[in-house]
Amino acid sequence: MNILKFGGTSVGSAERMKALVPLVTGAGKKIVVLSAMSGTTNKLVDICAALYQKQHQQATLIIDELELIYINEAHTLYALEDYKIKGMDLVKNYFNYLRSFTLDMFTANEEKAILAQGELLSSALFFFYLQETGITAELLSALNFMRIDENDEPNLSYIEKHLEAELVKYPNTNLFITQGYICRNTFGEIDNLKRGGSDYTASIIGAAINANEVQIWTDIDGMHNNDPRIVAKTHAIHALSFDEAAELAYFGAKILHPTCILPAQKRNIPVLLKNTMQPNAKGTLISNVTSGEGIKAVAAKDGICAINIKSDRMLLAHGFLRAVFEIFERYKTSIDMITTSEIAVSLTIDNPKFLKEITKELGEFANVAVEEDQTIICIVGNIPKDKAGYGFKVLEAFKDIPLRMVSYGGSANNISVLINSKHKKEALVALNERLFGY
Ligand code: ADP
Ligand code: ASP
Ligand code: MG
Repeated sequence: MNILKFGGTSVGSAERMKALVPLVTGAGKKIVVLSAMSGTTNKLVDICAALYQKQHQQATLIIDELELIYINEAHTLYALEDYKIKGMDLVKNYFNYLRSFTLDMFTANEEKAILAQGELLSSALFFFYLQETGITAELLSALNFMRIDENDEPNLSYIEKHLEAELVKYPNTNLFITQGYICRNTFGEIDNLKRGGSDYTASIIGAAINANEVQIWTDIDGMHNNDPRIVAKTHAIHALSFDEAAELAYFGAKILHPTCILPAQKRNIPVLLKNTMQPNAKGTLISNVTSGEGIKAVAAKDGICAINIKSDRMLLAHGFLRAVFEIFERYKTSIDMITTSEIAVSLTIDNPKFLKEITKELGEFANVAVEEDQTIICIVGNIPKDKAGYGFKVLEAFKDIPLRMVSYGGSANNISVLINSKHKKEALVALNERLFGY
């Protein structure tokens, strides 16, 4: 069985949905994971924001505009009158459901339910299209098997059991369609795997059923050496190890959800990144093979907060770092980068939810300074510990940019540099020139 995930642009219009048919049909069993049509989740976020602020008119306006887009796409998608009516009814039902929140109470639970509608709608529209085309397939609701636990981590044993229970109902079916991103939480309420989470769904399903391969189909021909939205020239990388891809995803390469490599890596399932617009392009194969020495790519992660913790008592004091880390552990806040000196430690977090509480507790035994608007630039590849020159080459690119932190040697795959976000573009351009000759 293969898992094929199609992102927002790949299902972004009736034309794009039609173009998926040759990719999802053909030999072998497949589970197809679909995102919402591009732009939809952003609009759903806007609807929720308006509802939170009790701007019901504004919410209704966005709902009406979005509905119009779907009505047009559904009209283009289906050829037969029956299916045009079926598609239209589907769209109307979903949008009437959204409208019901403009009259009623609105809470965090309802927000999650609203955010789930994009994937539910795209998968149902595509499933009807397959039916109209005469292709045998089953539509599985991810809400019946995708679960996260109390730590927001996928509950793999639950998912394995319940996905298997869905699949055995259709022993003769080769093609299953389901939704990315959406799930239920430990209380059984509708929840999600965070923005960009459809990649994560595909990898989790791949791990749950021990798939042969997880394919992530998107709008670019694989992982590139740098962020193509920011620098002018980039190239696709044809092979990456799980560790290299995981670093890039976690540190900002938007093509992959930050943690989506981990489930596939755990079960050693290759992940192939492919371009829906150019299906013949090679793409990127992510596997347990580390190929080629050298720096392969750079990525940038914004929204980082640096915390400097300084204490005279750190000098020769064992237990200081433990006391620091325990505070972060208690607030379930993970640390990305860390550097130390004799009397101080600097570390970074990307989730400021408990920043106030954390700095208050740290302040009981140290001087604490916080800097926001920081960016981690992550340089990834196969960087042997006994080879000279890599650190020099990287830091040379930053010669005109103030460095806040540098982390080298934590693994053979990563050099990380923390800078103020205002220097991000300059840094990525300089690295593109220095490391990749562009
Ligand atoms: P999807 O909707 O298919 O999930 P995304 O928009 O989430 O697609 O991810 C694909 C986009 O990621 C590309 O269009 C590209 O602009 C962006 N991107 C950022 N960094 C990289 C990178 N290093 N390699 C490839 N794409 C990248
Ligand atoms: N639709 C969701 C989002 O826009 C999930 C995804 O596309 O992966 O974040
Ligand atoms: Mg994505």
